[in-house]
Amino acid sequence: MTSDSVDVLLVGAGIMSTSLGVFLKQLKPDLAIEMVERMPQEAQESSGAWNNAGTGHAGNCELNFTPMRKDGTVDIATALEVNVEFDLSRQFWAYLVGKGLIASADSFIHPVPHMSFVMGSANQAFLKKRHALMSAHHCYQGMEYSEDHAKIAEWVPLVMEGRDSRQPVAATHIGNGADVNYGALTSNLLAVLRKHDDFKVHFNEAVIDLHRNPEGGWRVIVRNEDTASERTIHARFVFLGAGGAALTLLQKSGIPESHGYAGFPVSGVWLRCDKPEVVNRHCAKVYGKAATGSPPMSVPHLDTRIIEGKRWLLSGPYAGFSTKFLKHGSYCDLPRSLRLANILPMLSVAKDNFPLEEYLVGQVLQSKSRRFKVLRQYYPDVNEDDWELAVAGQRVQIIKRENHYAGQLEFGTEIVASSDGTLVALLGASPGASTATFIMVTMIETVLREDLTGDWREKMKEIIPSYGHDLKLDAALLTKVRAETAAVLGLHPA
Ligand SMILES: Cc1cc2nc3c(=O)[nH]c(=O)nc-3n(C[C@H](O)[C@H](O)[C@H](O)COP(=O)(O)OP(=O)(O)OC[C@H]3O[C@@H](n4cnc5c(N)ncnc54)[C@H](O)[C@@H]3O)c2cc1C
Repeated sequence: MTSDSVDVLLVGAGIMSTSLGVFLKQLKPDLAIEMVERMPQEAQESSGAWNNAGTGHAGNCELNFTPMRKDGTVDIATALEVNVEFDLSRQFWAYLVGKGLIASADSFIHPVPHMSFVMGSANQAFLKKRHALMSAHHCYQGMEYSEDHAKIAEWVPLVMEGRDSRQPVAATHIGNGADVNYGALTSNLLAVLRKHDDFKVHFNEAVIDLHRNPEGGWRVIVRNEDTASERTIHARFVFLGAGGAALTLLQKSGIPESHGYAGFPVSGVWLRCDKPEVVNRHCAKVYGKAATGSPPMSVPHLDTRIIEGKRWLLSGPYAGFSTKFLKHGSYCDLPRSLRLANILPMLSVAKDNFPLEEYLVGQVLQSKSRRFKVLRQYYPDVNEDDWELAVAGQRVQIIKRENHYAGQLEFGTEIVASSDGTLVALLGASPGASTATFIMVTMIETVLREDLTGDWREKMKEIIPSYGHDLKLDAALLTKVRAETAAVLGLHPA
């Protein structure tokens, strides 16, 4: 068995590993970095263009980020956090484009307005309150609200044509939203990494096991998927950016911090359409309200997508249950992840979330006509023949142990690090790729800063000009960085 030694091993070639690799190479160019990916090329799982919705989540339109409190007031705190986290991504990507490291922003990001759209008078009242709070904040400057059918039809004609003119509806619209091809972005980031001599990427190689080295760092066993031959990589630091499979590898690491985590996989399909006469009449990401009892990842939306220069409309997601942790994974993934430490918390989540399981099973059994029934709420005159099904990526929501018997189902992203900071796993899904930069900055600050000697903070400020400032509180700086990043990335400033 051959053996290599590196400073950093990145497991998986998705948006997270490639983002971290580029950050580390910018902050400490002499690091020897290796990336190992089980598929024949990058971005074949969640980061692939058709495996996610491509929303540049900025908390503009996602109604699950602004819940109504028991007293009827609306809480916009989560939306605000997500909003400014996306500004970090915009700055990182603009830095790479500005430096000529990524040739063209048009290869991965496009301006697409973000809208929320609701039906019924109670939802109108909710959206109105939400808009009043958001539009008063500098982060959401320029957000418009309307209950007027004609005005909404100006924004999104397909959503309003064929609709009963007496139906109470409401919408918000903000022009500075984005559609992002995270698959293309991943390829761009990998190309940046490949320019460095001491960076290597190996495809068709899967990490199958990992052990602590007595002298520090990790001994990682990698299997070639074509030849079944194995090799060992010794790494001072390991990042498990393996998407849904990060949980499996975290468990193999045996670190105490991994105990009690379990995964809840959710599959999904989209309806998509590329008919020019349809797609050219809709330019927005229109997010609705999830049906009562359904999970946040099932929020219905009708989205403009721009993939490899072509426009599409995407509707969904129509979620389902599968025991795979990856789209190209195994049905044994979930059963194999069961441990003494996570089985009781998992069963407690299963018991407490029966409506969610019922919902997901219902979605799996959903007929084509029921899927179009949902789509028709957002596009009343839809012609079913214009649409086809596409399989989405696999999400693995985290189940976190609260105590020996109970667990909590989490919908966010979680960084799990070993106490000595030599191994990090990234678990969870939402809001995901949009906040990859925020996740990397957090990781660098909390886990890796000891390794980054010298003036890395100065370099960080060059990459992210707002670094160290809270954009939620600094209106002038927010306006400045949004204008600068909009100009480089081809987005609308407001
Ligand atoms: C249906 C859906 C819709 C979504 N919509 C959005 C959205 O609109 N906006 C947004 O920001 N986010 C969205 N997300 C979330 C986003 O896609 C993910 O958060 C993000 O892509 C995760 O990136 P990653 O690099 O961690 O994982 P991935 O892209 O899944 O990459 C992990 C890689 O690791 C590899 N791997 C796994 N195991 C091993 C192993 N043992 N050895 C070597 N390699 C391995 C895999 O093959 C894969 O290439 C969505 C996700 C889904 C599923």
